[in-house]
Amino acid sequence: MTQGRPLLNRRLAGFGTTIFAEMSALAVRTGSLNLGQGFPDTDGPDEIREAAVRALRDGLGNQYPPGPGVPELRTAIADHQLRRYGLTHDPDTEVLVTAGATEAIAAAMLALLEPGDEVIALEPYYDSYAACIAMAGGTRVPVTLRPDRDTGTFRLDLGELRAAVTPRTRLILLNTPHNPTGTVLTREELAAVAALACERDLLVVTDEVYEHLVFEGEHIPLASFPGMRERTVSISSAGKTFSFTGWKVGWVTASGPLVSAVRTAKQYLTYVSAGPFQYAIAEALRLPDSYFDSFRADLRRKRDLLGDGLRAAGFEVYRPRGTYFITTDITPFGEKDAYAFCRALPERCGVVAIPNSVFYDDPDAGRSQVRFTFCKKDDVLRQAVDRLRGLAS
Ligand code: PMP
Ligand code: GLN
Repeated sequence: MTQGRPLLNRRLAGFGTTIFAEMSALAVRTGSLNLGQGFPDTDGPDEIREAAVRALRDGLGNQYPPGPGVPELRTAIADHQLRRYGLTHDPDTEVLVTAGATEAIAAAMLALLEPGDEVIALEPYYDSYAACIAMAGGTRVPVTLRPDRDTGTFRLDLGELRAAVTPRTRLILLNTPHNPTGTVLTREELAAVAALACERDLLVVTDEVYEHLVFEGEHIPLASFPGMRERTVSISSAGKTFSFTGWKVGWVTASGPLVSAVRTAKQYLTYVSAGPFQYAIAEALRLPDSYFDSFRADLRRKRDLLGDGLRAAGFEVYRPRGTYFITTDITPFGEKDAYAFCRALPERCGVVAIPNSVFYDDPDAGRSQVRFTFCKKDDVLRQAVDRLRGLAS
């Protein structure tokens, strides 16, 4: 306290330490297998790592790169959007490089919200959404994805989404493929979101960092739906696609006016993002389709390995269609409190996981859900499953 006031301002009160930092520290402290925080235990392609080294040695990006990102990367992003999705973007005015998707989300919220604006976010939500909406003075309005036991997946209730829109709604903050549930919104669901945004004149910020991690169905960018080009801020990142989460290279694609708004906030957050990595990611985005196909196939196999193992260990397992996370339910163990379960798990069997309960406003909705990541070596996944098998006894 100083001047009788808490040091942390009221917008951030209650945010504390992110669950990912808390659980990764717990894994280190207890020497546990970390299936919590989503980072691969194998680095991305050697040639991309070498491209970063080359950039460093050649003096590419060692001094402040241009604020919007180096032209090589902006062009590679625009080419990727065109080649994959048929979306055209001017690399000079409609692409912005950010310090990971995290900064893109923060800059979008800070740029687009007035205090008191409502933001609809799918719940369970990625933790930075809540903090960024709060820092921008916005009000979070969750719409809960609910488990559908028939399909073993989580579903968006379009009626609930529609009912959540009020005259104060400024934007929908979408995430597909969705962390932590692994839901991939279908063409019909996305079309309905798009129609609602157009009807109610809303902006949509769509976090598509797992765009290349889809195992069933396909990833369709929201920006490709009629009427959405001018009202969508699309966000992605190299971290997940290329297994370099520590490089923190992300990007925004949108119309010129939207990119300009987001850039206005971004330039006062980091001004620019790390230079040499941008050149390397420009090369990564031009890797042949075989890279993306085999990365996805490998992860699909890991999903099945972990999913089968968790089921055999006694968890109720929801089937992720995308991302590298599996959401489970711990009710079959007679447990109800995911946070307490995850705190105790290292002691009980040397494994760390993430309690989804912290990603909900509604404390009951996710109380017994626990998330595991499968972006780890096969023998780590097998060992984790072996250890978790002991839980039931
Ligand atoms: N959005 C989602 C849904 C995520 O899971 C993550 C975690 N990587 C991010 C954004 C942040 O991405 P980055 O590491 O590029 O900042
Ligand atoms: N996106 C990663 C996850 O969901 C973690 C990133 C972070 O630690 N902020 O596990």
